[in-house]
Amino acid sequence: MRITFIGGTETVTGSKFLVETETTKVLVDCGLFQGYKWLRERNWQPLPVDIENLDAVILTHAHLDHSGYIPVLYKRGFRGPVFTHHATKALCQILLADSGHIQEEDAKYYSKHNLSKHAHPEPLYDRKTAEASMALFQSVDFDEQGEVGDIRFHLQPAGHILGAASIILEADSKRIGFSGDVGRFDDVLMKPPRPLPKLDLLLMESTYGNRQHDTQDSFQQLAAVVNRVAKSGGVLLVPAFAVGRAQALQHLLATLMDKGDIPKMPIYLDSPMAIKVSDVFCQYSDQHRLTHEQCHRMCDVVTYTRTVDESKAIAGQAFPHIIIAGSGMATGGRILHHFKRLLDNSKTTVLFTGYQAGGTRGAKMLEGVDAVKIHGAWIPLRATVEVISGLSGHADYLELTQWLTQSELADTTPIQLIHGDPEALEGLRVHLQENTKYKVAVAGYRDILRL
Ligand SMILES: [Zn+2]
Repeated sequence: MRITFIGGTETVTGSKFLVETETTKVLVDCGLFQGYKWLRERNWQPLPVDIENLDAVILTHAHLDHSGYIPVLYKRGFRGPVFTHHATKALCQILLADSGHIQEEDAKYYSKHNLSKHAHPEPLYDRKTAEASMALFQSVDFDEQGEVGDIRFHLQPAGHILGAASIILEADSKRIGFSGDVGRFDDVLMKPPRPLPKLDLLLMESTYGNRQHDTQDSFQQLAAVVNRVAKSGGVLLVPAFAVGRAQALQHLLATLMDKGDIPKMPIYLDSPMAIKVSDVFCQYSDQHRLTHEQCHRMCDVVTYTRTVDESKAIAGQAFPHIIIAGSGMATGGRILHHFKRLLDNSKTTVLFTGYQAGGTRGAKMLEGVDAVKIHGAWIPLRATVEVISGLSGHADYLELTQWLTQSELADTTPIQLIHGDPEALEGLRVHLQENTKYKVAVAGYRDILRL
């Protein structure tokens, strides 16, 4: 068996791992590169495999850094199956179409402002292609045995977000594990990740490989931020990932308001995508911790603003209020329009709740820049910028280590670290080397591993 690391190495984006036997070729995850330009350019490069010879794709979960390249495969002629959990399919239906729409908008923007070296910049894919690619999806349950040629596989729950899985793949008498993004033991929404079985090799994510989450209670932290904003009479802007963090925030805010820990004030969920995802979340109530009542309350507590006009109308609302909008790393989406309007107001608070990848606007704001560039104009940053890391959907390095020790992995199992920025990968490598006997290495881009 041969594994080629085509993405999700040296970065948290672009996850793609090609697994080849004598007769079968399978791609585990099919993610978009995001963040730095030199990474995004990789989305345009050919894959080191003939797409006609690719037998299947198996997806760990719906986030675009794991699924967003599927429409590109489709555009280039791939018509094989994409195996994934039912909930992941439901989420991809929403996320991929939106991603296509964003690619179209970006291409138009580049064309209008002559920002591209191409006379007529093309989108990587459009919404129509993204929607068409959904026909390839074949959903499976956790623990259901699947087969592609001489490769057998199954999915097991990894926490993180709805439908998220680790993939266990068997071929040539070897068993390989792909961690996918690993969730947390005490996530507010998701159940804990299931420990792994015995493996001959593990590819493990390292997003928080060098960091430990805040041990403070997320409810209390959020309450403190909201109460400060309420007192100052400003606006709380929360850039949120449509899948996972938006629902967690809705649930936390609903709970805090019902308990009287924060004052009642309008909360706008200004993300048509997050609104759809919240509906899907409520449909899969056996997959997470919330009861039916909590799901309904979480949806009732916010005002949905679906249309652009509804979104614009928020500008006329009295302070204080809360706006949750995409995108989570402030790289695009409606949050930017609120930023343009409110970042130079010292009464504004921006609250980040998820990982901010290097090169994104979110990462720069956390670094403490004085101004941010939005749609070509510099906006002074006078708002307070806060972060609650305890709401993260990723295990930190201690939780990852705990997850490994609960597993059936032999002491000296080889582990290839993937899906992390370089400092995180190195941090986790050193930590595991010093504290465990696993044979740990950091995978490089386009590395090839033979088993
Ligand atoms: Zn993820």
